[in-house]
This record gives sequence, structure tokens and C-alpha cells, in this order.
Amino acid sequence: MAASGTHSASAPHVAVIGGGICGLASAWRLAEAGLRVTVFERERAGRGATWAAGGMLAATLEAEPGEEAMIGLARWSQSLWPEWAARLGRIAGCGVGYRDEGTVHLAVGRDELTALHHRLRYLKRLGLPVEWHDAAELRVREPALSPDVLGAIASPGDHQVDPRAVVPALLAALAEAGVALREETVVAGIEPAGDGWAIRLGDGGRERADHLVLAAGAHAGGLAGWPAPPVRPAKGQALVLQMDPAAPLLRHVVWGSGIYLVPRADGRLYVGATVEDRGFDRQPTAGAVLSLLEAAWRILPGLEELPLLELVTGLRPRSRDDLPVIGPVGGGLHVATGHHRNGILLAPATAELVVAGVLGRPEPVDAAPFRPGRFPHKIEVPLSA
Ligand SMILES: Cc1cc2nc3c(=O)[nH]c(=O)nc-3n(C[C@H](O)[C@H](O)[C@H](O)COP(=O)(O)OP(=O)(O)OC[C@H]3O[C@@H](n4cnc5c(N)ncnc54)[C@H](O)[C@@H]3O)c2cc1C
Repeated sequence: MAASGTHSASAPHVAVIGGGICGLASAWRLAEAGLRVTVFERERAGRGATWAAGGMLAATLEAEPGEEAMIGLARWSQSLWPEWAARLGRIAGCGVGYRDEGTVHLAVGRDELTALHHRLRYLKRLGLPVEWHDAAELRVREPALSPDVLGAIASPGDHQVDPRAVVPALLAALAEAGVALREETVVAGIEPAGDGWAIRLGDGGRERADHLVLAAGAHAGGLAGWPAPPVRPAKGQALVLQMDPAAPLLRHVVWGSGIYLVPRADGRLYVGATVEDRGFDRQPTAGAVLSLLEAAWRILPGLEELPLLELVTGLRPRSRDDLPVIGPVGGGLHVATGHHRNGILLAPATAELVVAGVLGRPEPVDAAPFRPGRFPHKIEVPLSA
């Protein structure tokens, strides 16, 4: 990985629209590549979907029929995370919550056991590194699990970070790399201006950039003048409970049916998450609390004693085919959105692809399945730049 970048005043200027993990990670690596970078964030950086996320880096267990195109990208991004975590930790002077105990996907009852055996065969056919743990093995690793748990797929390479530690670390990395961060600054639209682009700000101001990176998450579809990627919000609600950090109920990330539990080193237990089609509504609901707690309690009954710290909601950016939308559109426009359930996992790979696109370098992996132009109504540059 390159050392921290210093840009010259004549370096091309890249404006990144959106300061979630995808925008911040891209901005960091662009600045390290020697470009002048400004991030425009309409609220506080990192407080969108990124703030609500579980932080699982589940390249293996997230593999889904129909989404196989993503496995290579996800595994590559997962492989970049240990070095990213170490570098960000060094720059920020504190960790980003990287934990490598791995993940287990559990079955409760015979039906779930049969389904999980099918899933194990599917993951093995894809050549993914998974193994089976029977109930006795599981209870040695996680004694607080329900006696109704019958077995699990173990994915030792699916680790986690804490997004709420990653955000401040990325902000420190941006500051070190010389990125200008403009929070509480809405980008209202863009228009061609000479060889580059004019950025219209919500407060009436205007800025100029040679390249634009659209990383506005679930809002990426609605920017005036931009060839809108087909991205919509997928609401997610999750709970945060508090375990005793000296005697945590759980050490591994655990998945059950419609539920996952992510234990942090400080004892917080993240219980996630719903996936709802509710437009831009972010209102927490009693139904989500009920379904999350019921599903979590089936696998970890002891959690009923834990203090409830928080109910979080966020809007995942979901594309029409559930794959991320990353790459150049043309004319100096680039997209980095549509990461749906896996934006934390995919942030390092996204950033590297954005850098390759802006600099016109070969892509480090085959990114054809994720290109913005793949949709039937091709994303066109609206006006010639
Ligand atoms: C409940 C939940 C659990 C999740 N768990 C995981 C997980 O375990 N692992 C994982 O990998 N992923 C997970 N995700 C998905 C992950 O959080 C997202 O894919 C990722 O955060 C998307 O990052 P982003 O930068 O694209 O979007 P965001 O973080 O939403 O950032 C977009 C930013 O753009 C800003 N913006 C929008 N419009 C404008 C504008 N016009 N001008 C300026 N700024 C603008 C917004 O204010 C926002 O800050 C989860 C998501 C949710 C909701």
C-alpha cells in the first residue's frame, strides 16, 4: 500500500459526494495517490448507513445464489481489511474493532439443520473455506448458546470491524492525507464546466472539480444533473445490548435464522438486522424490536438479562440487481454506491476501484459485473462535458 500522499496544487481535483464509508475510503486512497480531494457531506461524515452497520466482513457466509459475481470482489476486499485495520489503527492511535474469531451460522430445529446442510454443500461447491461444527463442538466454543442449537457452519475467515471506530479512524486518515472535508454541505446538483464539472451546493455556493465520485449511498439516485444509478433505500433496524466485557455471553459472530449477533470487545452486542422496503422512512418500529429479540433469544436465551443500549436504523443503498455499482460513467464521473448489505466489507475494494477509474489505470480485479453501464436503461452522461 502506498505511503501517505501529498498532492501538489496543480494536481487534478476530485470531489467526492457523500461521506459514508465508501466516500471516505475512496477519498483517502485518492489523496494517497496524489490527487486533491474534497468530500462533500450533507450531515456529519459516517452517520448514514455506515453508522448503523454491524461491521461483519462476511465474504463467505454472505455468498448467495444469483450474487456469485460478488464473491471474488468480496473475498479480495476481505483480504485487504487486516492491513487497512492496522494502518487506520496506527494513524488514529486506536483500533477499529477488528476481531478475527470468525463467524458461525447456526441451526435450531430439524428444518433449519436440513437447510443449513444444503447451504454447506452450496458454499463448498463454490470452493469457500467453511466447515461443519456439531452441537457439542459449538457449545465448547460458545457455552451460552441455546441447547436447541443442533449444529453450525463455521466460517473462520469472516471477521468483523466496528464501523463506529472505523469512521473516526478514516477521518484521521483523511486529515493526514490532506483531504478537505466539508460537512453539513449538501450537493444540490452538478453541471459541466469547461473541462470539468461545476458543483452546485445547497447554500447557493459553487465549486469546481475535474472528477466527481458519487458516493451518496441510498440517496445516490436523486442528484440533479447526474445520470442516476438505479439505487433505492433498504431500511435496516438493529439493537445494541450490553454484555459484561469481562464475561461476555458470546465471542464469535453468530448467525441464526433471520438474525445475527456481533459481539464487540467492549461488551456491546449488536443484534441485527431487518431488511425493509420503506422508502426513506427511518422511524424505528416496535415490530422490529419484537422480531429481532425473539429471533436472538431463540439462539442466546441469556440475552434477556442484558441492558438495551440503543435501537439503530439505517438506509442501505440497494441496487436493482443487489450488486454494488462501482466505476466510471464517462466524462470524469464515477460511481461508488449500491453496496446494500456489504458496504463495510467492500469499502477497501471500492476505494481501489475508484482510484483505478479516476487515474485510468487497469482495474485490480474484474469489475465488469459492477460497472454502472450494466443496467438495461444504460446510465448515460446527461450532457457532454
Ligand atoms: C442495519 C444495517 C446493518 C448493516 N450491517 C453490515 C455489515 O455487517 N457488514 C457490511 O459490510 N455492511 C453492512 N451494512 C451495509 C453498510 O452499512 C452499507 O452498505 C454502507 O454503509 C454504505 O456506505 P455508503 O458510504 O455507500 O453510504 P452511507 O454510509 O449512507 O453514506 C452516504 C453519505 O452520503 C451523504 N449524502 C447523501 N446525499 C448527499 C448530497 N446530496 N450531498 C452531500 N452528501 C450526501 C449522506 O448524508 C451519507 O452520509 C449494514 C447496513 C445497515 C443499515
